[in-house]
Amino acid sequence: MKKFIWLLALFLFIIVGADKAGATEIGTDEIGAENNSSANKVVVVIDPGHGGFSEDDRSFGAIYNDELNEKDIDLATALAMKEELEKYYNVKVYLTRENDVQLSLEERVNYANSVGADVMVSCHYNASEDHLFYGAEIFTSAFGECYMKGKALAQCIMDKWVDDGLLNKGIKTRLGSSGEDYYGVIRRGCETGLPVIIIEHGYLDNHFDYEKLGMPADWERMGRLDAAGIANYYGLSKEQEYEAVIPTVFTEDPGGVVYPDETPPTSVSLNIIECNIETSEVTYEVRGRDSDGKLMYYGLALGEPEDIVPGDFADLMLWEEGKSSMRGTFPVPTGYRGKIKARVYNNYELYSDSAAIEIDLATLVQERAELLEQAAREAEEEARRKKELARQRAEAAKREEELEEQRKNVGDFFFFVGGDDKAETVDPVARKKSLYMEIIALVILLAVLIIIIVVRHRKAFLKYFKTIFGDDLDRY
Ligand SMILES: [Zn+2]
Repeated sequence: MKKFIWLLALFLFIIVGADKAGATEIGTDEIGAENNSSANKVVVVIDPGHGGFSEDDRSFGAIYNDELNEKDIDLATALAMKEELEKYYNVKVYLTRENDVQLSLEERVNYANSVGADVMVSCHYNASEDHLFYGAEIFTSAFGECYMKGKALAQCIMDKWVDDGLLNKGIKTRLGSSGEDYYGVIRRGCETGLPVIIIEHGYLDNHFDYEKLGMPADWERMGRLDAAGIANYYGLSKEQEYEAVIPTVFTEDPGGVVYPDETPPTSVSLNIIECNIETSEVTYEVRGRDSDGKLMYYGLALGEPEDIVPGDFADLMLWEEGKSSMRGTFPVPTGYRGKIKARVYNNYELYSDSAAIEIDLATLVQERAELLEQAAREAEEEARRKKELARQRAEAAKREEELEEQRKNVGDFFFFVGGDDKAETVDPVARKKSLYMEIIALVILLAVLIIIIVVRHRKAFLKYFKTIFGDDLDRY
C-alpha cells in the first residue's frame, strides 16, 4: 500500500513538473503565470502581517490589552482565508508565512513574485494611538494599474465586510514624504508590477470593533469573508472551473496619482441648543464639511481648549454619511461651568475643532433655585392672602348676622309700637307669638299702672272705700 502511495506521488510530481515546464514555454502576459500550472488559475498570495520576535513593533504588530498580538490574529485570519479560497476553482493560494516567523517587506514581495502572484493581500488588524478610531480600511497603491486593480479588489472585500456589519473607513492611498506609496509592501510590490493591498479589518483596541472582531471565531469569519471578496473580484466559482479568470470589477484609470485626502474638515461649528440641569446633559448640534473626503467621527470635550488632549474625545461618535450636521446629547458634570468644544474627523483621521463655547449650568441651577424659591414665596403669599380673605368673609358674615339680628329687633320694636314696613317681614308664626307676648306685656303694664295708681292714691282710695263700706274696712 505504502509503495502504491509513493508511486502515485511520483507520478503526480512528474505530471505537475511537466505542466509547469509547459506553462513556461507557452508564456503569457499575466504576471508570473509562467510559475504556475495553468494560465486559467489566478495566483493569490496572502500575507499575514508581522511575525517573529524582534523588539520592533513590526514583529508583533499591534498588541491589544497586553496579551493579544496582532501577528497571531493576522495569521489566524490568513489561514482561514486560504482554506476558504481553496474551495474555489481557478485559484492558487500561497501564504508568505504559515508560522510565527519574521519576514522583511522585501522578502514578502519577493516570495509573492517567486510564485507568480497576480495579487498580494496583506492581512492586518488595526490600532490607534489614543484608541479613538474604529472601522475597516484598505490601502492600495496610488499609482496606475496597481491602484486600479487594488481598488477594485479592495471594493469587493469591503462590500463583504460591510455586509457583515463592519464600518467602512475607506479604501485609501497613502503617500510618504517623497511622494511614493507610504507602505513598504505596496511600494515594493508596485515597483515589481505586483498589486498589493493592505486590508485592515478593524481596530481591536476600540470596543466598537472589538465587539465584532475580538474572538478567534471572528478572525476566521473575517478570513472567509476576505476569501469571498477575492473570489467575487475574480468571478470564481466553487462549482465549476472556467477557461479563464476575468476580474468582474474594474476601476477607471485615474489618469495620475491618487492622492489621499490631505485637508482636514472645514466649517466645523458647535451650537448648544439646550442645557438640561435635570439630567445634566447638553443638547448640541455639530456642523462640518469635507469637500474632498468624508466626515467620519466627531466628539465633544470639556475644558479649556489648550488643555484638551485627543484622549478627551474618547468614544468618538459616528458621523452619519452625507449629513451636514449631527445632533445629540452630551453628559456634563452637575452644575458644570466652563468651556465645551467639538472635534470632527474625516476618514483620514484629520480633524478640525469648533470654537469653544462657554456653558454655565451652575448659574442655571442657581437661577432655577431662585425661581423655585420665588414660586414658593408666591405660593405662601397666596395662601396667606386666601386665609385673610376667608377671615374677612367670616367676619363680614358674622357682622351681617349681627346686623340681621339688630334689624329683627328693630323690626319687632316697630311692630311693637305700631309696626312699620319692616314688621311685615316677620313670619306669621313669630308674629303671632310676639302678638301674645305684647298682649301679656300690655296686661302686666296695665296691672302695674293700676297698682302704682292705687299705691300712690291709696289714702284717697281708702277714703273712698270707707265711704262705701264704712269702718269695717279697718279690719282688713
Ligand atoms: Zn499590522
